Amino acid sequence: MRHSPNGLSNRPSSISGSTPGSTVPVTGPVSAGPPPRRSSPADRPLGLLGVAGLVVVSVVLLSSGGCALFRSPPGPPPLVWDSVSPPLLVGEVELEGPEPLVVGIPPAPGRYDRDLDVVHYDIELVIPPENDRVSSRTTLRYLREVAGPHLVTLDFTGLRVEAVTWQGEALEFRHEDGLLEFAAPGSPGVFDTLQVEIMSRGVPADGLILRENVHGQPSAFADNWPNRARFWFPSNDHLSDRAAVSFTVHAPPERRVVANGVQVAEPVPADSTRTGGIGGLMTWRWESAVPIPTYLMVVGVADLEVLDLGTAACGQAPASPRPDGCVEVTGWAFAPDTAHARRVFHRAPEMVDLYVDMFGPYPYEKLANVQAATRFGGMENASAIFYSEQAIAQGRDLEGTVAHEIVHQWFGNSVTPAGWEHLWISEGFASYFGPYFWEHVEGRQALVDRMDVNRERVLAAPEVRARPVVDTSPGNLLDLLNANSYQKGSLVLHMLRWVTGDRVFFQGVRRFYQAHSGGNASTDDFQRVMEQVHGESLEWFFRQWLHAPGYPEYRVEWSWNGARNEVQLRVRQEQDSAWPTFRMPVEVEFQLDGGVHRQLLMMDGREWTRTLPLPGEPLAVRLDPDGWLLARIHDDRE
Ligand SMILES: [Zn+2]
Repeated sequence: MRHSPNGLSNRPSSISGSTPGSTVPVTGPVSAGPPPRRSSPADRPLGLLGVAGLVVVSVVLLSSGGCALFRSPPGPPPLVWDSVSPPLLVGEVELEGPEPLVVGIPPAPGRYDRDLDVVHYDIELVIPPENDRVSSRTTLRYLREVAGPHLVTLDFTGLRVEAVTWQGEALEFRHEDGLLEFAAPGSPGVFDTLQVEIMSRGVPADGLILRENVHGQPSAFADNWPNRARFWFPSNDHLSDRAAVSFTVHAPPERRVVANGVQVAEPVPADSTRTGGIGGLMTWRWESAVPIPTYLMVVGVADLEVLDLGTAACGQAPASPRPDGCVEVTGWAFAPDTAHARRVFHRAPEMVDLYVDMFGPYPYEKLANVQAATRFGGMENASAIFYSEQAIAQGRDLEGTVAHEIVHQWFGNSVTPAGWEHLWISEGFASYFGPYFWEHVEGRQALVDRMDVNRERVLAAPEVRARPVVDTSPGNLLDLLNANSYQKGSLVLHMLRWVTGDRVFFQGVRRFYQAHSGGNASTDDFQRVMEQVHGESLEWFFRQWLHAPGYPEYRVEWSWNGARNEVQLRVRQEQDSAWPTFRMPVEVEFQLDGGVHRQLLMMDGREWTRTLPLPGEPLAVRLDPDGWLLARIHDDRE
């Protein structure tokens, strides 16, 4: 991800047509009257509904005063969505859900230790022409290793839950404080796959951004990092739980839909029994069979043009649906911006091919590069990267962002940090191997120049002074989008390459990818792999650079002894006493009358001195002439 120029804020949920507690006639396909039908998924083919079930009923819309504790309402028969149609969008309906959470709250300790493993999300969305609200049906299939009745806790906030059905049976549920909870009857088998459907509607307070794009056209783009999927679909919204996902999106005909994975079929006219009676919509279907974390599950719905950018990763893309085994690389842009988009995205296939060579096979079905009206400057959503709409509309050079987001397809998306504190495994890797593309095509100086920019950023960043890269207690997860995760992370990799040498470094990164692709990895996991390849402990390196704040501030002093032809070199580490005393191999360059002399020295200790023979008196002494280190360096002659 790249930082947004727009910032990120939590806005209150909008309320439209709110009539809490009133009784509103709703027309639509519901099956009236208890008892609820219990059926297997196979009993309920999509779009099929008994004609007798098409009735007009009155539904009590429950009061929603900040939270809602639902019990079977008295009076009219309980509302049972017949697992066919999403909630209605027409008419005066209650849209308000419980008060949305503040964005970016870290999970409570132990929140995701429970026995819940979602294996598949099926998300059906209705986007009306007005683009001002959504209704949805989310079907989750999940695994449980314990038989019998159990409590299911999902993340979901801001939208109004209309019904929860479990294996076809309506359940009572509680929806408050960002959690949707219900007791499921369970099933006799163990290791069972269970299914729950949640119907909801409203105006997402976040996560799915409904707004006009830069050209004043309606658009809907998801934007889930770090845990904002919960603002638009009920989910186990943590980066440790990956699942396959399919999307069925009913959208106005002039808009295109893009999402993760492959487009399953050409869009077809929507069945109005599935759109709450809204006519004229088109139904799009996308599916990612490759399991991904919820923060990467997205749809984009807008007036988009598709640009063919070519293919990549041929024979190195196991998820590709194409007979030739290549991955399609496309650009998606608003009509006025297609020329800019083509220029910005045109090297994407070349970048994919480089990273396939470096890391391993491309993990997804395709790669779409999408101009998107969201909140971040770039978001690496698996196989459907979203980029700042303004940057593309203005024709800005975004190639650095393109390379960064493409690296994320391997690091971040496929190897996902084990927890948010290991975010540098995503952002630091993208901030190093993105710039590496230019070392590959232009030579080493192109990388050095980019690392110089990153170093300046780190040296100016208060968070680097205060916090370690592996930061286990951020106040808000959004605070982790900082110079520690990005620029310092990139320089840690640059220095690790310096310490281990190119052969070990690139082999280690490749092995790390192989060992953890399709899973989660911690900083320790990366350290272990690098130590195996390097053949010796790197504890000292990881400890000082990732688990403590700061960097060395070297003060270099030297004097020349002409009688003995020796230079006396003294290097003090003047950084904050709360920061580590760094141990690093440092190259020293002595400028002599007839050329330069370089020497590699292991520097450690707050006060370090060496006496070195030299063929002549140095004119100048320089530490780290090739720019490998993260350090502030002061040169003085005594
Ligand atoms: Zn990133």
